[in-house]
Amino acid sequence: MIEDADVVVVGGGISGLLCARELRRAGLDVLVLEAEQATGGRVRTDVVDGFRCDRGFQLLNPAYPAVRRHVDVDALDLRRFGRGVEVVTDDGPATVVDPLRHPRDLAATLRSGYVRPAELARLARWLAPALGPVPRLIAGDDKTLAASLDAGRVDGRLRREVLEPFLTGVLADGSGDSSASFVRLLLRSFVRATPGVPALGMQALPDQLADRPDRPIRLGTRVREVRATTTGPEVVAEELTVRARAAVVAADPSTAAGLLDLPRPTMRGLATWWFACDRPPTGSTLLRVDGRGAAAGPVVNTVVMTNAAPSYAPPGRHLAQATTLLPDAAGGGGGGGETDVRRHLSELYATPTDGWEVVVRHDVPEALPLVPPPLRVRRPVDLGDGLFVAGDHRDTSSLQGALVSGARTAVAVRRHLNGG
Ligand SMILES: Cc1cc2nc3c(=O)[nH]c(=O)nc-3n(C[C@H](O)[C@H](O)[C@H](O)COP(=O)(O)OP(=O)(O)OC[C@H]3O[C@@H](n4cnc5c(N)ncnc54)[C@H](O)[C@@H]3O)c2cc1C
Repeated sequence: MIEDADVVVVGGGISGLLCARELRRAGLDVLVLEAEQATGGRVRTDVVDGFRCDRGFQLLNPAYPAVRRHVDVDALDLRRFGRGVEVVTDDGPATVVDPLRHPRDLAATLRSGYVRPAELARLARWLAPALGPVPRLIAGDDKTLAASLDAGRVDGRLRREVLEPFLTGVLADGSGDSSASFVRLLLRSFVRATPGVPALGMQALPDQLADRPDRPIRLGTRVREVRATTTGPEVVAEELTVRARAAVVAADPSTAAGLLDLPRPTMRGLATWWFACDRPPTGSTLLRVDGRGAAAGPVVNTVVMTNAAPSYAPPGRHLAQATTLLPDAAGGGGGGGETDVRRHLSELYATPTDGWEVVVRHDVPEALPLVPPPLRVRRPVDLGDGLFVAGDHRDTSSLQGALVSGARTAVAVRRHLNGG
């Protein structure tokens, strides 16, 4: 079957959906082709026995500029987590929070042993560029996170036991190879707002972006080839060829690289275990990490979802998530089977977890593209001949990056269709 459209978008993840919405709003006829049976890409929610389990634990930060611009955050009914972390140490759990947001935890934070004036001052100096203008931060000198913290002499317990364990889960990377400028950008957003999850699960985000397309999104349609012809781009799926004036490839980074012959980014993987329990091990909404060093594992972070979002479980039940790194192709990363995860969780919460029930486990081997230094945001999206590329890999590995990429690809497509 052959169909025509002004623009064909390959992939109904966050970047593809936003790109399509922006183009539709500009009056163009847009057809989205999505390989899976639902839109959302890396942002999906499975409802299992009444538990809402996101396909990989993730949080939406309402401070992301692109979220403020393109998302109706109020409509998502965001359930916010605490701003800080609980760190498990050999001496028990320690609480490190933003005292402005959690004044009642100020004393606990001061007692934690992490608030040492000299290291705090060095960390504040290291973080300072994150609080200035973003263009200056992006254009500034960049190194790997590890080298940058070393250079700033941020080398004490606050780094090893709090910052690095927290960032390992956020970046899906414990190697310290990520761009320090990217990490500063992420921390800038954490300083500015409290992340959360929509009451109905993260899937509510793509559902909002996909709302009311003029032309139904084609689900279960995996694109095999994208080609430029003398009459314009053609996109070929199993039983469908779409001829369009422009084609946007908003597939995941590896598939986009294959379809468009682009370099493949290095991807990092995460696994999320979702556990149901009758009694929550804590009432806290803070993320819990292990500050006892690399030997402690495999869980890189855990939180009781229902303490912040009761709607994630049926009445009277509770849901906890535990995230581990997945080994990458180069053999890095963690993994960990159920026995190890349960053992580690019982250490982290100082409570037996044998009675906890695994609701589902999500493995996402290609969760996030590694963002190495120097940070390069705004990678080219117009590849010529009416072909475009969108996705977090063109900007930064985050919902912010995916949204920015989708929006600026829409602008580039409109410019192309209007004759440059
Ligand atoms: C476990 C996990 C935790 C995360 N945590 C956070 C977090 O806390 N905060 C944050 O900001 N970000 C987080 N992220 C990152 C964020 O989810 C992604 O950056 C973002 O969703 C990427 O969107 P995208 O549109 O670029 O790509 P994708 O979501 O990968 O979308 C690509 C789409 O293309 C489709 N597709 C692929 N191949 C084809 C084909 N051949 N034909 C048709 N369709 C195709 C796919 O099915 C998919 O729907 C996390 C991601 C994961 C996986």
